[in-house]
Formats: sequence, structure tokens, C-alpha cells
Amino acid sequence: MKYYSTRNNKTTVMASEAIASGLAPDGGLFVPESLPELTLKDIEAFSKLHYRERAERIMGLFLDQFSSYELRSFVTAAYGENYDDAEIAPVRKINDNTAFLELWHGPTCAFKDMALQMLPHLLTASLRKNGETKQVCILVATSGDTGKAALEGFRDVDGTSILVFYPRDGVSDVQKLQMTTQEGSNVRVCAVKGNFDDAQSGVKRIFSDRVMAQQLSERGYFLSSANSINWGRLLPQIVYYVSAYCDCIKNGMIKLGDKLDFCVPTGNFGNILAGWYAKQMGLPVGRFICASNSNNVLTEFIESGVYDRNRPFYTTTSPSMDILVSSNLERLLYSLCNDSGEIKGYMSELSEGGRYQVSEKIRNAIASEFSAGCCDDERTAQTIKQFWDEYRYLIDTHTAVAAAVLQDHREKTGESQPVVIVSTASPFKFCDSVIKALGGNADMTGAELVPALSGMTGVVSPKPLTGLDKRAVRFSDCVDSLDMESVVSDFLK
Ligand SMILES: *Cc1c(COP(=O)(O)O)cnc(C)c1O
Repeated sequence: MKYYSTRNNKTTVMASEAIASGLAPDGGLFVPESLPELTLKDIEAFSKLHYRERAERIMGLFLDQFSSYELRSFVTAAYGENYDDAEIAPVRKINDNTAFLELWHGPTCAFKDMALQMLPHLLTASLRKNGETKQVCILVATSGDTGKAALEGFRDVDGTSILVFYPRDGVSDVQKLQMTTQEGSNVRVCAVKGNFDDAQSGVKRIFSDRVMAQQLSERGYFLSSANSINWGRLLPQIVYYVSAYCDCIKNGMIKLGDKLDFCVPTGNFGNILAGWYAKQMGLPVGRFICASNSNNVLTEFIESGVYDRNRPFYTTTSPSMDILVSSNLERLLYSLCNDSGEIKGYMSELSEGGRYQVSEKIRNAIASEFSAGCCDDERTAQTIKQFWDEYRYLIDTHTAVAAAVLQDHREKTGESQPVVIVSTASPFKFCDSVIKALGGNADMTGAELVPALSGMTGVVSPKPLTGLDKRAVRFSDCVDSLDMESVVSDFLK
């Protein structure tokens, strides 16, 4: 199968090239030339398989360059002992027509593990297929979740190393401890004085520094990123939508062939887009309900066809959804118009004026498959409490946004068909907000919050977040953002 850029559908590349380069050279995103088909028979067969086998088969449909032996070794490494639930992505049914798809049983307790545990294997194999002999160093600027998930994904993976910069003034206590105690022989973590923008602009500067690239190349290294527009991050996410459908057949919520809806807490539009691809392949999905927090640029877009980032930015209790530019949306728009000229137009309007309006055709296509809604922090907190009181089911802030939006959707439409809420983080990852939502006192430091939430609810905390304060801090450096180059140079000696 070939891939091309959303901004130029004349030039195709192989999967291994799309994964190795991340972003297309013209600034567009790689998309598959066509989507493989899933029949009901396939789905029935998948429902008898374990998550690992489902992943191997489904990813294999897109990766004909990779042998089934290779794919099996990837899924074994990515979805094994590193997960604390043998099902990997279990579905928890809470009533006749509502279930949660728990995507946070991996090593960092958030859904980014589903992709970032797989990406290093896809990336290193892709580099080998492309004949690359230098060693890749993943460079990340993080505001929290992605950095830790990338560290866990790349730690001790042969032929790779990873260097993560985080803003000294911009991550939570738990997030900081998670990163500074990171294990692995090929990792380094460094704080940067300032906020996320300082760290981010330092990383961008390093990526565009030709002299530095040359020096590193002479030492046998090159730099790459692991961000969410890489096809190698999107592909593993298609799997869990198919897997959830199979599990809803098994738990009696639907019968094979019935339509199932998904409600997804959305930021960069990667997660929900993977579900939409599964639907295009043939998975019987009714609607996707796109849930946002107060940064509701996608709610407005789905309802009006106007994407406008000129609006206040809110810092919310669901920080991984605090996004004003949802990069992966470009892939959906492309698939709905198949016109790379049209996409280039929208994207240049976005970068110039921060706004674009899609054609009637795209707008109607979106309206026929997506609904959208948003909710603020107060409602998020009420929803956490409501689900705990009603079902004794503990959810995090991001998942609660989706749960609230689903309730509004059902009220507005009168619909009652089965819906899977995609649960993107363990409630223990956002302890302070969850404790407050339940009416507790969250005046504690990071590491004390985890046992406190566990004590309040009787829910066992995930191992990776337990005893964080007792782990040895391995990385305590803090540099000026202008000195980030020397950290890279020292790391790749
Ligand atoms: C990244 C993230 C999201 C948003 O996912 P997108 O793919 O960016 O839409 C939602 N919840 C959590 C917990 C996340 O870490």
C-alpha cells in the first residue's frame, strides 16, 4: 500500500518512508492511497482473537512491506507485560447502552501508550527498510503526557535514544516525577527554564539547525520526532475501535452488524480520526460524538463548518485537550474532498488569518457522521461525581468531558442506541481534580495524592503511579532555553 501527502496526491511513498519522515516534505500529512476493507466476517473472526492478534491482522492490512513475523514481534513487545490488564484495551459496560473503552492500562496510564508503545518498533523497522544506517534520536518538547509516553515507548529500544525537554514551570508534580525518575539506558530528561513555548521553540530551533545536523550525522546520529501526526501513531489507534466493537458483541451490547456509536474526548483529532478510518474500512459505526472542553473550536467547526482559532485559550482540568489547532483534522478534510489544492487553501488561510470555512460538501459530509459538544470544568467535575455515585465507576477529567457531552447528546436527540465512551486516562493521573470533584481536599503534594484518591474510593492505584516519591531521581538538570543545543550535543557524544 502506498501513501501520499494531503497537500500533493501525485507523489506516493511506501509506509516505511511515511513513518520515518512523519510530516510530508510539503508540510502535509501522509494518508493511505486507499483503505483496506473489513467485512463482517473479518470482524466475527477478530472477535475470537486476543488484542495482540487483532492488532497484528489490522495493522498488517496497511503494512504490506512488513512480514507477519515482524508484526507479531511488534505487538508482542508493545502490548504485553507492560500493560496491567491482560485484555490490553478492555471494554467496561456500565448499563445496557453505555460502555467505556479503557485505553490507559499501559505504562504511563494514558491512551498515548496505545500508539507510543508501538511506534518505536514501526520506526526502527522502517528505518532499516529504508537503508538508514545512522541511529535515531527522538527529540521531544512536552507539556506532560506525550513526553512520558514517548520515554516509556523508546526506553531501551535498540538503535534509538530519546531526549525530552519539559518546562520547569509547566508540568504537574506527578508528571515531573514520572519523567525525572525515568528508567532506561538510552534516555535523558532535562528541565528548561520557562514555559512550554520556551521548550518548544528550543526544540524547533534545534530541528532546523543545519550545522548541528551535520555534526550529529558525522557522529552517526540523526534527529526525529514522535508527534501525533506520524502515521505510525495513528495506525495502532485504528485497532482499538475494531477491538471495542468485537468486545461489545461479546458483552451483549450489540449483535454483529449492528451500529455502534463512539464518543471521544478530543484534542488534536488523532484518536477520533482513527475511529473514522475504522468506519470507512467497514466497521459498523453510527456516529462519532466529538467532545471538547472549554477550548471548543471543534464543536463550533462541526456545527458550522467554520474553523476559527482566534479565541481565548483556556487552561482546563483536562489539559491534554487544551488545543486550538487540531492538526489531524487535515486528514479528515482531505478524505472528504480528495482535493489537495483545496486543502492547501484551507491550511494557508489557517496559518495566515487563523480561520477557514470548508465547502458545503465537506460540511454536510461531516454533519452526517459527526456530532459535537463541549463542557466546562464545573460540569466535568459534576460528571466525575455522578458516575462515581451512580455506578461506582471512577473516571478522569478527559473521560468525564466525553461522558457529559454524551448525556447532552442523548437528551437533545432522544437517542438511546449503544455508545462506547473512549476513556483516555486513568483517574489517578489527574488525582487533584478527581479528588476535588468527589468533594475531597486536594491540598497535598503530587505523590501524596495517589494514595489519597485510592483511600477515598477503595480503587487500587495503577502500579506506575504508586510510590513515585520513593523512586530515585535520575535527571535533575535545568537549563536556559538557549542552552538546549549543548544538552543535545552532550547526550549524543
Ligand atoms: C492526548 C489526549 C487526548 C486527546 O487526544 P487527541 O488524539 O489529541 O484528540 C485526550 N485525553 C488524554 C488523556 C490525552 O492524553
